[in-house]
Amino acid sequence: MTDTLEYWTQRAAELKPEGRAFINGDYQPAHSGETFESRSPIDNRLLANVAACDSADADIAVRHARAAFNDGRWSQLPPAKRKTIMLRFVDLIKQHGDELALLETLDMGKPISDARHVDIPATRRSLQWSAEAIDKLYDEVAPTGPGELGLVTREAVGVVAAIVPWNFPLIMASWKIGPALAMGNSVILKPSEKSPLSALRLAALAKEAGIPDGVFNVLPGFGHTVGKALALHMDVDTLVFTGSTAIAKQLMIYAGESNMKRVWTEAGGKSPNVVFADAPDLSAAAKAAAEGICFNMGEVCTAGSRLLVEASIADDFMAEVVRAVQDWKPGNPLDPATNVGAIVDETQLKRVQGYIDTGKTQGARLSTGGNRADTVDGGFFMEPTVFEDVTRDMTIFKEEIFGPVLSVVRFTDEAEALAIANDTIYGLAAAVWTSNLSRAHRFARGLRAGSVWVNQWDGGDMTAPFGGYKQSGNGRDKSLHAFDKYSEIKATWIKL
Ligand code: NAD
Ligand code: MN
Repeated sequence: MTDTLEYWTQRAAELKPEGRAFINGDYQPAHSGETFESRSPIDNRLLANVAACDSADADIAVRHARAAFNDGRWSQLPPAKRKTIMLRFVDLIKQHGDELALLETLDMGKPISDARHVDIPATRRSLQWSAEAIDKLYDEVAPTGPGELGLVTREAVGVVAAIVPWNFPLIMASWKIGPALAMGNSVILKPSEKSPLSALRLAALAKEAGIPDGVFNVLPGFGHTVGKALALHMDVDTLVFTGSTAIAKQLMIYAGESNMKRVWTEAGGKSPNVVFADAPDLSAAAKAAAEGICFNMGEVCTAGSRLLVEASIADDFMAEVVRAVQDWKPGNPLDPATNVGAIVDETQLKRVQGYIDTGKTQGARLSTGGNRADTVDGGFFMEPTVFEDVTRDMTIFKEEIFGPVLSVVRFTDEAEALAIANDTIYGLAAAVWTSNLSRAHRFARGLRAGSVWVNQWDGGDMTAPFGGYKQSGNGRDKSLHAFDKYSEIKATWIKL
């Protein structure tokens, strides 16, 4: 048996994660020699001492990335050639899938089954999709008169810095590096200080696949040191980011203070999941509502953290939601049967607990959960939690918690539901459940969100663009729209 708690515990004990930065094709310590500890939220064990990169490392990496871009070792390859190398990279990720999954689980606490069956396959699909697209993207010829030829062409932007969060470390990285590399850019990836290990392992696979030295670099370290240095760097052309809205805003300031680098951000969310009495399958809706807040411990930018229920069905429906939430139980993330893993670290656990205290103080009714779970000694586990009777002025209605805490509000008609759904600074995702075709379309149009799901939660694949309205960010990851972030557009006008 290779898929048991014993097996994964044994493999975890044998693992020696790489903690050094990856610059110009080689692993190396931070220029300063400084390191920080990566500890597992499962049991607080030390996983690795990781290079604490700072502005000196950012300078070195940018210099190599620029040199690689300028000499064309990657940027000037025919797109089909880049595709072939990237598909080899995808194969290597598949070959090393279990190792990468284990790194994800140990470093950020998600269940091993999710890491293996969601994160790694999604990472592969994402990189594969971008690679396969790149030799199928045509440029444009402008509609000129006979005396001129107008070409509208996409070109790589140059050096791209990608700063990503810890909740889906490899998936978030792949959404950026896939189109960035496919377009021919040089990339510097800055993983979160809370989850650097899988990105560092990825670097060696990129090299083995044939991605040339200097084209793909990984700099672990803190946001306020190496992250800030990349964001302020005068020779980074484009900065792509997934993370919190507060940092997204700061990055836009850094760009304005430095070289006006392009900044594209995917930021926070407080996504509404709206259930009408005429939903085609209320049981399915209840299960989806539970999954929407429990999956990945609620540490999901699109978590369905606000559940809006039509009052006429609310009592029965909520009983079903609470039962469904109770099927999500914290367990050892290395156990393949576990569906709720550890919260990423103690800071985040305390943050979530703080919101639960505030919910109680402000008068919301706790229906289930609310407590820390002592699942594994030294680990950070939290019971999935449901608050009912939430009102629009409450903190837990307004702020992103990034944990397994659901806020439930009742409504009486469609107009009220839409007003509540859109009453947020965010606009990442939303869902509506109804059998009424006109209402489904009307409501979907009314929702101010980048992703709208009808009669399901979390639909879409690599063909669907992903990103936010309002303070959830700008630009789109996934789909052909993603290439806009990694290209400049040139107009070349020729007199014939
Ligand atoms: P965060 O904003 O704290 O950190 C994200 C990244 O930014 C990390 O790599 C961090 O080191 C870096 N960073 C922090 N301060 C910086 C600075 N001053 N300069 C440069 N870089 C800096 O977010 P987090 O805690 O890692 O992730 C949780 C947040 O991410 C949530 O708000 C969540 O909604 C959001 N998120 C959004 C999406 C999306 O696609 N919209 C996806 C996942 C997570
Ligand atoms: Mn970690």
